[in-house]
Amino acid sequence: MQYVAPEKDAQFLMFDLFRAQEIWSGIPAFGDFSQDLVEAVIAEGAKINGQVVAPTNAIGDLQGCTWNSGQVTTPEAFKGAFTQIAQGGWLGLAGNPEFGGQGMPKMLASLIEEMFWAANTSLYLYGTLTIGACVCIEAHGTPQQKALYLPKLYSGQWTGAMALTESHAGTDLGIMRSKATPHADGSYRISGTKIFITSGEHDLAENIVHLTLAKLPDAPAGTKGISLFIVPKFLPNEDASLGSRNAWASGSLEHKMGIRGSATSVINYDGATAYLLGEENQGLAAMFSMMNYERLSVGLQGLGAGEVAYQLSSRYAKDRLQGRSAQGAENPNAAADSLLVHPDVRRMLLTQRAYNEAGRAFALFVGLQLDLAKYTDDEQAQALSELLTPVAKAFLTDKGFEGAVMAQQVFGGHGYVHEWGIEQIVRDARIGQIYEGTNGVQALDLISRKTLRDGGQTLYAFIDRMAADPIAAPFDEALTAAFERLRRVTGYLVDHSPDDVHLAGSVSTEFLELVGHTIYGWLWARMATIAPADDFGQSKRVTAEFFFARLLPKTLGFEASICQSTNTVMALPADRF
Ligand SMILES: Cc1cc2nc3c(=O)[nH]c(=O)nc-3n(C[C@H](O)[C@H](O)[C@H](O)COP(=O)(O)OP(=O)(O)OC[C@H]3O[C@@H](n4cnc5c(N)ncnc54)[C@H](O)[C@@H]3O)c2cc1C
Repeated sequence: MQYVAPEKDAQFLMFDLFRAQEIWSGIPAFGDFSQDLVEAVIAEGAKINGQVVAPTNAIGDLQGCTWNSGQVTTPEAFKGAFTQIAQGGWLGLAGNPEFGGQGMPKMLASLIEEMFWAANTSLYLYGTLTIGACVCIEAHGTPQQKALYLPKLYSGQWTGAMALTESHAGTDLGIMRSKATPHADGSYRISGTKIFITSGEHDLAENIVHLTLAKLPDAPAGTKGISLFIVPKFLPNEDASLGSRNAWASGSLEHKMGIRGSATSVINYDGATAYLLGEENQGLAAMFSMMNYERLSVGLQGLGAGEVAYQLSSRYAKDRLQGRSAQGAENPNAAADSLLVHPDVRRMLLTQRAYNEAGRAFALFVGLQLDLAKYTDDEQAQALSELLTPVAKAFLTDKGFEGAVMAQQVFGGHGYVHEWGIEQIVRDARIGQIYEGTNGVQALDLISRKTLRDGGQTLYAFIDRMAADPIAAPFDEALTAAFERLRRVTGYLVDHSPDDVHLAGSVSTEFLELVGHTIYGWLWARMATIAPADDFGQSKRVTAEFFFARLLPKTLGFEASICQSTNTVMALPADRF
């Protein structure tokens, strides 16, 4: 698969739109990140992904993973590429330098993550779970745990996995059954079975560190009785050398629609030695620190899929000759004109592009808020990153998948067969909408916890902030109307939810779409306002005009479907389904 990282767009967003240099100059931890260094990191990220990672994508899908008596073998092509990713320090980009990370801004790391996802989603999953485990150990580990695990994980010698799901407990983790019993030496013993564990067992690293949720014998019922544990495959000695094999094993691999190079295991814990991470019964909150990171990362997975799908379909549309332009032959010497003469094909390409480029700007904006929340005392940044995390996870993966399907449509029947690679992108992108909390659950989080709980205050403040930006004509009026619409709908929900307990859950998905489209409208207007006077800038302005003409008007429909006087969703009795 051919993939070219969007370097120019990355630099435009980083330096022109968000003026990262100016922001970072006020953050001591980022003082060393000159424009030259950032450009070099982007260029190196583009190189490893274009030359090393992307070529392993199709072959990894064909080879898949295999299971034999608990041993899991990953695609042959993955081993060398993963070693290069690990040895190149790519897993520790935003990690703490004290433990071998590179201390880069999350905003910059997000750009690089998008490239890895685009180049090979399955392969990067081994990396992203490792990074997530680091975030969690760094936030909740003891000094000894940090010193023991983080350097090995950042360097990719060991990898991470998160083990939450059980066959009867997915979204509802409070009913999980895995048990942890205290042991005399201060450790614990875990028994139970987890399913769907990404990178739970594989052959790419010498050790695998599970972060596993389980319940103590006297734990309170529900989510308040869950604790988090470090459960390594090999129990490490104090000097991080490997000791005995722990008592857990992969029971089988799932056979999946996509991400076939990613090993997804059933894991059986049979009295496995476990070390408490954080406090007893506080496991879910601790795990969320990993999951929030993962959620932006999974959003970037959607963006990466959307970007590579656009690249394949726009190249194909230029080469494929079918039919003639409505205004007469454009290529009279050939049997037919290219697909690009057909407005409907252009609509599909522009739709993909409009969501991708706004999506990249949005992901960087969320990354920036995470940086500000972590390294400064900007309270608004903390609130904003919490508000926007579910939007980033769900909107980016929804638009990435929809974009991949649209790209497949551009290929016609050739999109349905294996040869062109686009059907793999569709299969691989689909999971982003499901794991790390389904997109339905993200929408509920946005509407209930992040919006209604504070009477819409955080969202209103964000709308005010967006509205304060100078926006040029012709986008200013439509954008102001979109802000008003979002304020109106939020007000409607705040006013009517107390009288209808099902209102929020009935319209949550439309609300997330409304929020996402409004933010993308803001970002497109800003990008168009500052775009340079060259071809790149002109493409930005035309794509912005397309977004405003064809995609932002969807918000009218979302308002209409949310603000109904009667809620029909719960009207049908259960036995009629
Ligand atoms: C390939 C793959 C990899 C995975 N990797 C991991 C991993 O590494 N670690 C791990 O622990 N798990 C992993 N998972 C599990 C994944 O996170 C869960 O599948 C997901 O959270 C949904 O849980 P579930 O499948 O039990 O669906 P359910 O919880 O049964 O949900 C079914 C449907 O009902 C909806 N629903 C459920 N509850 C509510 C509610 N309260 N309100 C509104 N709607 C609701 C959901 O949105 C969904 O549409 C993976 C899954 C897959 C398929």
